[in-house]
Amino acid sequence: MLRRTKIVATLGPASERPKTLRKMIKSGLDVARLNFSHGSADEHRQRTRRLRKAAEDCGRDVGLLGDLQGPKIRVMRFKRGSVRLSSGDAFFLDSTLGLNDGSGKGVGVALETLHRDVSPGDTLLLNDGLISLHVDSIDGTRIHTTVVDGGILSDHKGINLKGGGLSAPALTNVDRENIKLAAELGIDFLAVSFVRSGDDIEEARRLFEQAGGTGQIVAKIERTEAVENIDSIIAAADVVMVARGDLGVEMGYAGLTGIQKGLIRKTRKAHKIVITATQMMESMIENPIPTRAEVSDVANAVIDGTDAVMLSGETAVGNHPNKAIKAMASVCIGAEKYQLPHASPQHVRDDFSRVDQAIAMATMYTANHLSVKAIIAMTESGSTARWMSRVRSDIPIYALTPHAATSRRVCLYRGVYPVEFDIDASHAIDLGKLYQEIFNALLRDGLVRPADLVIITKGDLTGVTGSTNAMKILTVTEPA
Ligand code: PEP
Repeated sequence: MLRRTKIVATLGPASERPKTLRKMIKSGLDVARLNFSHGSADEHRQRTRRLRKAAEDCGRDVGLLGDLQGPKIRVMRFKRGSVRLSSGDAFFLDSTLGLNDGSGKGVGVALETLHRDVSPGDTLLLNDGLISLHVDSIDGTRIHTTVVDGGILSDHKGINLKGGGLSAPALTNVDRENIKLAAELGIDFLAVSFVRSGDDIEEARRLFEQAGGTGQIVAKIERTEAVENIDSIIAAADVVMVARGDLGVEMGYAGLTGIQKGLIRKTRKAHKIVITATQMMESMIENPIPTRAEVSDVANAVIDGTDAVMLSGETAVGNHPNKAIKAMASVCIGAEKYQLPHASPQHVRDDFSRVDQAIAMATMYTANHLSVKAIIAMTESGSTARWMSRVRSDIPIYALTPHAATSRRVCLYRGVYPVEFDIDASHAIDLGKLYQEIFNALLRDGLVRPADLVIITKGDLTGVTGSTNAMKILTVTEPA
C-alpha cells in the first residue's frame, strides 16, 4: 500500500553518513530538513551534497527544507556552564550583563529589548518551559524574577514569554545570511521561524528570490501572534508548519491539540500544504520503538489531514534515525487505512477563479466517484497536483513533470508522487502517442496495470505554468 502522508526528517550528526542516508531514503524519507540553528555553512553544504548523492543512488526524489533559526531568545553563558535553580530563588535576567558572567543570581540575555517587552506578573519560560520564572519588577535593563519551577539552567537555553508578546522581528542578520546560503544550496523549501504576520513571509520571500532562491516558503507557527494573524500568514505562505515546540511553550500545551487541528483544517481549506512537527517520536532518540502515545500522536495528525509529519532530534541526533522513519512510515500507513476512502465533501461549494484549479477539482470529484486507479497530472509547477491533493481520496496522484525542482516540491504533498516525464513537441499533434508514453512510464515503474481506468489532466500548451485545461478518462493499454 502506498503511503500518502509524507515524512520530513532533520539531518544531523546521527544521519549524515551516506549509508544511513540511503537507508533513510529507502525507509521513506521524503523531505530532508537542514536546521540552520545548528552547524556551520560548510556543514550544511556537505549535508546537502551527501543527501543529493544518496537520493541519486537510490533513484528517488527527495526535497530539501532549510529551517531558519529566527529570533530564538536565549540566555547567555554561565561562568560554570550551568546553575541549579530552586523554586523560591531570586534570579535576574539582564541584557547588559557580560556574555559569560551568568551565576546563580542571574544571567545575560540575547534580546536587548526584553526588559521593555515584559511586565511585573508575567511568566518567563526557559528551556522549553521546564523552568518558569515569575517577573517581580523591572529596574532599567534588569528583570527581577522569582523561580516558580526550578531545575538546571545551562548556557544558551531558550526563553519564551508565556502568552507571547516578544517584539523581536522574525528575520535576524544571521537569518539574512542563511537565506543566501539556502538559495546557494538550491533548497526546495525555506522555513521562516517565529513569523508574526504575512509581512514577515513576504519579506523572507523577497530576500530569498533576490538571492536567486526558487523554493517555496514555509511559515512556522510558533508564536501567539502567528495564531492570531493566521489568515494573512496562510495567504502569504506556500506551506504552514505547526511548530509545536515553541508554540506549546508560549500558548501552553493544554490547547495545542485543538490549535493543531484548526491550523491543519484552515491551511488545507486555503489549498496550502501543512507539516505537523516536534516530539512526534521523541522517545526514539533513545529507544528503538515509539511509545503508544507517540503512535497515537502521529496517527491523529494523519487523520487530521496533515500533508507531512516531521522528525527532529530523532533523526538528527538520535540512536535510531532509520528505525524512527520506518516506525513513522508504518504508523502513517496504519492511520491512513482508517480514513473514509471516497468521502470528498471538501471544496464542493467553492467557486474557482482559475481554469486549472477547476479541472483539478473536477478530476478529484470524478476519480472519487468512478473506480479510477490513478490520477495523472501533467504539471509544470506542481499546482494542479497540489489542488488535487486538497481533496481527500485514496487514489494516488502522479505528478508527471520534466522539472527536477517540481518533482522534489511535490514530495511534500499528501498523496502526490513525482514521475519524471519529458514532453516532446510532437505530442501536441499526436495525443495517442503521448498517452501511450505516459502509460509506458507508469507501467515501467509498476504504478498502473493494463486495463486500469485512469484520469490524465493536461494543457494544450507545454512548458506553460497554469495552462491545464483538460481532463481525459482513459484505460491503460499495453506498451505498443
Ligand atoms: C518547534 O518549535 O516546534 C520547531 C519545529 O522549531 P525548532 O525545531 O526550530 O525549534
